[in-house]
Amino acid sequence: MRFNKPAYPTVYFSEEIWVNCPKCSKPALVRTELPKYTIPFPTGHKSICNCNHCGFQNSQIEKWSGFVQGFVNRACGNCGTGFCYSTEPTRVPYNSTKITCEVCSRMKEYEIQWYRYRNDKATDPYFGFDLFLQSNIKDNILWLYNLNHLEYLQEYVEAKLRVDDGRHKYSMITNLPQWVKSSKNRDLVIKKLIKMKKDFKKIIQKI
Ligand SMILES: [Zn+2]
Ligand SMILES: [Zn+2]
Repeated sequence: MRFNKPAYPTVYFSEEIWVNCPKCSKPALVRTELPKYTIPFPTGHKSICNCNHCGFQNSQIEKWSGFVQGFVNRACGNCGTGFCYSTEPTRVPYNSTKITCEVCSRMKEYEIQWYRYRNDKATDPYFGFDLFLQSNIKDNILWLYNLNHLEYLQEYVEAKLRVDDGRHKYSMITNLPQWVKSSKNRDLVIKKLIKMKKDFKKIIQKI
């Protein structure tokens, strides 16, 4: 079997994203209008999150619930050597950190600038809520926005022959972690995807 679907970027699947409702943890739907189709991240979009279970609603995309990454990009307060320091992504930002200069070895406290972090985390890119469709595989998390996204990945993983034509650096397949692409994990990944789909359909029927 051959995988020859178009090389969609991940954002292609992002118009409907299932997340854990921040209030009741049941699946809530983030719907996004993408007026301009820009990758890797759209501009001028409108998003709304609705939970049919508890009535939670949010359309304030200026509020970010996801991970943030901190940067200190400046010159050493003692010798003036420029440096760029970045933190691990976190959901709990802090004001400052102590950094030791590699040139003069003086340690000083510096203020941190925080930015939204969207890479490789199981959160939606618009509000930063945790994705509903996620599952642990060994030490990794397999995450998906919705069932179309899941079925697209399933078809790719199931295919013995994967055509590389038209792949670009933002295509979802290009950006898949190696453990998903690895043929030794194929059966395990397919099994997880099928189970996620089955469980999700059962839960959705009850809401
Ligand atoms: Zn809810
Ligand atoms: Zn220094």
